[in-house]
Amino acid sequence: MSRTPFIAGNWKMNLDHAQAVTLVQKLAWTLDDTNFDFDKAEVVVFPPFTDIRSVQTLVEGDKLKLAYGGQDLSDQDSGAYTGDISGEFLNKLGAKYVLVGHSERRTIHGESDAVCAAKVQAAYRNDLVPVLCVGEGLETREENKHVEFTLEQLRGSLDGLSAEQAETLVVAYEPVWAIGTGKVATSADAQEMSAAIRAEIEKLYSADVAEKVRILYGGSVKAASAPEIMGENDVDGVLVGGASLDASEFANIARFDA
Ligand code: PEP
Repeated sequence: MSRTPFIAGNWKMNLDHAQAVTLVQKLAWTLDDTNFDFDKAEVVVFPPFTDIRSVQTLVEGDKLKLAYGGQDLSDQDSGAYTGDISGEFLNKLGAKYVLVGHSERRTIHGESDAVCAAKVQAAYRNDLVPVLCVGEGLETREENKHVEFTLEQLRGSLDGLSAEQAETLVVAYEPVWAIGTGKVATSADAQEMSAAIRAEIEKLYSADVAEKVRILYGGSVKAASAPEIMGENDVDGVLVGGASLDASEFANIARFDA
């Protein structure tokens, strides 16, 4: 595979800053113990905002090749937006990535595709790479409309994105019915949607851009299920929620090809 695998952990609203330090230290020891090769796969964590400074200190202090990012960002860069966090702040804390449009943001905070598109732009304005999350709910899947639904979300959330920006984009396909439920989509499901997303990106931009974009699967991934999912042609990584809170489980996911 020419695209570098991307193994991401979304901590959601879990772990205070002290617990974050413990988890990153355990993760670093576990990966180190098994001589993990960071050139073979990028390992990224998405802590709550209040943990990011602690994670930055550890990563820089220990010269850890762990990347980190925010779970969300404002579509604005500064000003009277109480409670929001700008891409500029994340960038200044050394964040490289930011999640955009996670289904919990779309559902709980009512974020539309237009809001996600504005956030994708805010990410690029601040030198952050967005990890754009898309995916259908159970009803849509049962009606067999999951591909058309997800591609519509993709197009809407990429509105205004240039080909140059799109080259570095990461897309996470996360069927809502598989998030935190223990129900994992089959690797064939993950491949079907990842191939459809790649084909859509080719239509929107070019074959060259589509070849570069990394596409992840997310939804109840564990160390036991990661290798098969990662073995699919168009799946370049995984976005892991619950299992990323356990250092050895997450390290084993990162070692999917060991
Ligand atoms: C997620 O939060 O993006 C996720 C996929 O969660 P989980 O792995 O717990 O289903």
